[in-house]
Amino acid sequence: MLSYHATCSKVEVDRLKAAKIPLSSELGIDEFHFNDFSLDNDAMITASLRMFLELGVVQKFKIDYEVLCRWLLTVRKNYRTVAYHNWRHAFNVSQCMFVMITTATFQDVLSDSEILALMVGCLCHDLDHRGTNNAFQAKTGSALALLYGTSATLEHHHFNHAVMILQSEGHNIFANLSSKEYSNMMQLLKQAILSTDLTLHFERRTKFFEHVLSGEFSWAVEGHREVFRSMLMTACDLGAVTRPWEVSKQVAELVTSEFFEQGDRERSELKLTPAAIFDRNRKDELPALQLEWIDGICKPLYQALLKLNRKLKPMVDGIDGNRKKWQELCLSYQQTRGASVSSQSNDPGQNTKSSYDAETSELPKKAEKTAQVKNTEFGSKSDCREVLRCRANKEACNDKAASDENKTLSGRK
Ligand SMILES: [Zn+2]
Repeated sequence: MLSYHATCSKVEVDRLKAAKIPLSSELGIDEFHFNDFSLDNDAMITASLRMFLELGVVQKFKIDYEVLCRWLLTVRKNYRTVAYHNWRHAFNVSQCMFVMITTATFQDVLSDSEILALMVGCLCHDLDHRGTNNAFQAKTGSALALLYGTSATLEHHHFNHAVMILQSEGHNIFANLSSKEYSNMMQLLKQAILSTDLTLHFERRTKFFEHVLSGEFSWAVEGHREVFRSMLMTACDLGAVTRPWEVSKQVAELVTSEFFEQGDRERSELKLTPAAIFDRNRKDELPALQLEWIDGICKPLYQALLKLNRKLKPMVDGIDGNRKKWQELCLSYQQTRGASVSSQSNDPGQNTKSSYDAETSELPKKAEKTAQVKNTEFGSKSDCREVLRCRANKEACNDKAASDENKTLSGRK
């Protein structure tokens, strides 16, 4: 049961219940290129209500409006004020789900139960996140690692926290479901939240890619649907990479700032040297890491989804645009670094130039290879290095692993 302090107040509920809920178009939430920072904390609550209403789930599952208001306000309250894994992130992930479902007309293939579970899953998928990843829980032997073990530690906690909120008085938005619908809903919700663990994503994506590419994917097979739902969850969780450049870049900076906080603690409390993405002394490497992140993880996923539904094209276009920008930053960093090394050299430019040329020409080659959707290379695990999993804040990593090209992402648990 939630403590009094973790529950929203009656005044807040009454105010929200009486509030006018703007249309999707007024809130801008019907756009793939939604600005993650455009709504304030309260507007994100009313926008959540609008999404639930528009998807028809309030009517379909007879969700009591006051209970829905209370549940949303309490969910918001149970996100912490960390740089990235906060209420705004949860809302943005749910907006991404909303626009994917409505634009790609997944309503035609997904059941109402699946849609409700996915939306609730998005809003709850990072509940009570503390700004440190699963590996950190394991390394520090945190209370969460002791409670849930070291596999998908945080995701189990987010799910349990979601259940705790639902079970608190006046918060059960599933109260009017039949007992069969209810147990099905909780199963779907658990799958949705646990699937945001990237370790699980890597275990499942190969099959999904194969099914999509071979044309064997079938909505009639529950196993295929389950994998599809988990792919949707990841696509929404990582959705910031598809947003307009200024938004996408700002989100990347927030993720980085949260990672650096963790890196600082690894250094001071655990006496470890953090991996590049957690190390503020290596902040200049961000553009290069972003390129690896896009090529190894994001692009293959959105391209597979695009293959399933052409209406998702704006997401892939968004990634391509952002990739270009990160590459420009990467090149300008390399040129600056090259210039500064050259100016210190007795033989200006000579050696450094050739070495940077080699580096820059390597990047597009790598990208081409990983972004292919045509053959078995599509989504190949060997393209993804450990560092990518670290970037996702979901799995253990260290510098040695990050430099080990041969180690596959899912080979390490
Ligand atoms: Zn998340």
